[in-house]
Amino acid sequence: MKRTLFTLLFLLLGFMMVAQEGPVNVIVLGAHPDDCDGDAGGTAILLAQMGHRVKFVSLTNGDAGHYARGGGDLARTRIAEAREAGRRFGVEYEVLDNHDGELMPTLENRLKVIRLIREWDADVVIGPRPNDYHPDHRYTSILMQDAAFMVIVPNVAPEVPPLEKNPVFLYAEDRFRKPYPFEPDIAIDIGEVFDQKIYAMAAHASQYFDWLPWTRGQLQNVPEGEEARLAMLAKQRPFAPGPEVKECLIRWYGERGASVEHAEAFEICEYGKQPDEKEIRRLFPMLK
Ligand SMILES: [Zn+2]
Repeated sequence: MKRTLFTLLFLLLGFMMVAQEGPVNVIVLGAHPDDCDGDAGGTAILLAQMGHRVKFVSLTNGDAGHYARGGGDLARTRIAEAREAGRRFGVEYEVLDNHDGELMPTLENRLKVIRLIREWDADVVIGPRPNDYHPDHRYTSILMQDAAFMVIVPNVAPEVPPLEKNPVFLYAEDRFRKPYPFEPDIAIDIGEVFDQKIYAMAAHASQYFDWLPWTRGQLQNVPEGEEARLAMLAKQRPFAPGPEVKECLIRWYGERGASVEHAEAFEICEYGKQPDEKEIRRLFPMLK
């Protein structure tokens, strides 16, 4: 009862702050329908609960993400899965019609990304780092970097009004170490919404319970039944914060940060607005 009351109070405070300062607009860029979910899904749920606006965009339609299916049939499944995931996260989910496995950092795609960021009136843009293993992920990162700054230039994509202020661009956490490992600047405790994140991710059934286990030779180990599948997905996610993320959590949450079990961390990209601590707490009000 006390906990419910506390949650209600927290939500009420959140809405009062949104009413005062206006919502924070966050857009997350992923290469495939399911990438944004793992990178920033918990943060998105927390922001949406407080009345802020979050949009996930997949730059490809995911039509190569299967061993037995492909093309338009698979793309339609993945668009439907993304829509359901968006509903479960409480965010808008858009899937662009580029082929999976063939994303290129073309001028056409750069202009598309610039328009999306402007149309969302983004305060924060989140995407992968450019040293990821997957070419689609790398080029998603390049497209994000190419849009940083250009979103405020009126003569680029002039049919959509430019943003008045450059957003903060953030990289989502990964495990790649070359040329340099991920350096967390912001870390969000997502413990209270972790189960909801897993439930929302599970909407991508063609991926988490079919294609990805197949790539690891473990298709035969996928259980039947929703509960067992959710438990499997929750166990697989590498969310236990490493030493650097733990240190970052302590920076933002004080000593209680040391005991956070599930976190999402972000590194500030050098190309966009460089926020100070006060600005970061405004953009991520769960840190207030
Ligand atoms: Zn991906």
